[in-house]
Amino acid sequence: MNWKALPWFLKISQVSTQPLQKVIISVKNLVKDYGDFRAVDHISFDVFDGEIFGLLGPNGAGKSTTLEIIETLREKSGGDVWVDGFDLDKAPQEIKKIIGVQLQTSGFYPGLNLVELLHLFGGLYNREVDAIDLLKKVNLEDKAKNKSKELSGGQKQRFTIATTLINKPRIIFLDEPTTGLDPQARRSLWELIREIRQQGTTVILTTHYMDEAEQLCDRIAIMDKGRIIKLDSPDHMIDELVATGFERPRQVKAANLEDVFIHLTGREIRDE
Ligand code: ADP
Repeated sequence: MNWKALPWFLKISQVSTQPLQKVIISVKNLVKDYGDFRAVDHISFDVFDGEIFGLLGPNGAGKSTTLEIIETLREKSGGDVWVDGFDLDKAPQEIKKIIGVQLQTSGFYPGLNLVELLHLFGGLYNREVDAIDLLKKVNLEDKAKNKSKELSGGQKQRFTIATTLINKPRIIFLDEPTTGLDPQARRSLWELIREIRQQGTTVILTTHYMDEAEQLCDRIAIMDKGRIIKLDSPDHMIDELVATGFERPRQVKAANLEDVFIHLTGREIRDE
């Protein structure tokens, strides 16, 4: 078979750690200019069906801009994006139907409880919503009658993740899902993200936390100044660095301070 002749969405890529994988998002030479400033500078990458893919990088690297373009929320200046075979330029409406985007808590009507909010958001997608089922998925069923302002930070984050699942998406986008959470709430959110992936949903997230990327992501792209400077699995990246002779300046201990904290305070979430 002549693989090169196949359209991109029928191609399957080979990575060394895993067998054949289907590409669900393909970004080619993406560019975004804000006036004279180039925020995204010719980046290309593929996301595989069913993986947790992380975009890492310092503030201003272009992560959110990249996500928002794929989410159809921001115009690109150049390049091509395909999501599950749909060309962003030709079929943005089709893309909207199969993706889940985190709705910001600032947009939540203060007078409505969680069930009412989910029904309201379901209306945006033109969908009947089983609100209790969604709340169960994110472990918030006992908060069904609470208003969003009555939730703790971790609960709010879990609720915004529930909002990504309303339209039963194939892919969800999470922008810094655990920023500002305590270690227990972060771990509980990692579990939730793993469960969502387990059920077949592809997850793309941005994060500032290296431990989060290492624990959660199958592959990561490290962005800096609008470019992707490295794309691989966390394991490979670390092995590659070690192979250059790199050593940590201090001897690595068998535990870190977060292990001590969790050992002392337990794993249960405190925001219930
Ligand atoms: P990250 O998510 O990695 O922190 P962003 O994608 O938010 O980065 O921003 C990338 C760069 O683009 C930053 O320098 C930011 O100031 C700039 N930028 C983002 N949005 C706009 C905008 N609407 N207008 C002008 N510049 C913007």
